[in-house]
Amino acid sequence: MTVAHPTILDVAREQVLERGEGLGEEQVLAVLQLPDEALAESLALAHEVRLRWCGPEVEVEGIVSVKTGGCPEDCHFCSQSGRFETPVRAARLDIPSLVEAARQTAQTGATEFCIVAAVRGPDERLMAQVRDGIAAIRAAVDINIACSLGILTAEQARQLEVMGVHRYNHNLETARSHFPRVVTTHSWEERWATLQLVREHGMEVCCGAIIGMGETLAQRAELAAQLAALDPHEVPMNFLDPGRGPRWPTSRWSRPRTPCARSPPSAWRCRAPSCASPGAAS
Ligand code: SF4
Repeated sequence: MTVAHPTILDVAREQVLERGEGLGEEQVLAVLQLPDEALAESLALAHEVRLRWCGPEVEVEGIVSVKTGGCPEDCHFCSQSGRFETPVRAARLDIPSLVEAARQTAQTGATEFCIVAAVRGPDERLMAQVRDGIAAIRAAVDINIACSLGILTAEQARQLEVMGVHRYNHNLETARSHFPRVVTTHSWEERWATLQLVREHGMEVCCGAIIGMGETLAQRAELAAQLAALDPHEVPMNFLDPGRGPRWPTSRWSRPRTPCARSPPSAWRCRAPSCASPGAAS
């Protein structure tokens, strides 16, 4: 008589769903390598994990860009990089428009309003604009305020804490081993350091990634482990549509080698069972 061995989804059910213990990197890879026929079962398990460990509530967050386009960085996926030919034109939002966007966001029932900027990191002008904008929003609208302003210094993180910023978004974008193929003007480690500053200064950490930038399945599992080690409050997951991106610098990176379908949300949900995963991110 042959004895059936438990599948990785059997293991995940017991380990993640029942005990609330995330999968290890090798286990995440095993989930990602499941055949297509297992997709429905893995999605169903992911949903059960979400209900058990996160509950049924959905948090709604609005984002608005105060500085769009013209970014000096070369993130190959980004239409706001000034280094690639894209239809995006540089623009700034004034404070009355920012307050109005926050008001409209709150009226939808959203509880968080995120101020984002296409920059490597904030300069003094942007920090002053954010400071004034937050003060104006606080005077007019009852909503949590988040920011996504790129790489921070310790002093800038302290200033954002003093301004009362509730949450900070800064994505790892991809696995550490793949990052140099996607961005050359700053490092994965600089991003990681900013995320540590955000936590040290009492802000919630919002950190996610983009799937479909030529990374391997093993690198997706690596990314999941790195995100889990960070233990963020929420993980925005984005899926690249290469047909509508900027013009890639083809010598470095052309097209994803791994289909996005090979990133079942169950793998991410099983890696960090109690972490929120919003559907949108900057
Ligand atoms: S730093 Fe942000 S805005 Fe600038 S190119 Fe990279 S992803 Fe785009």
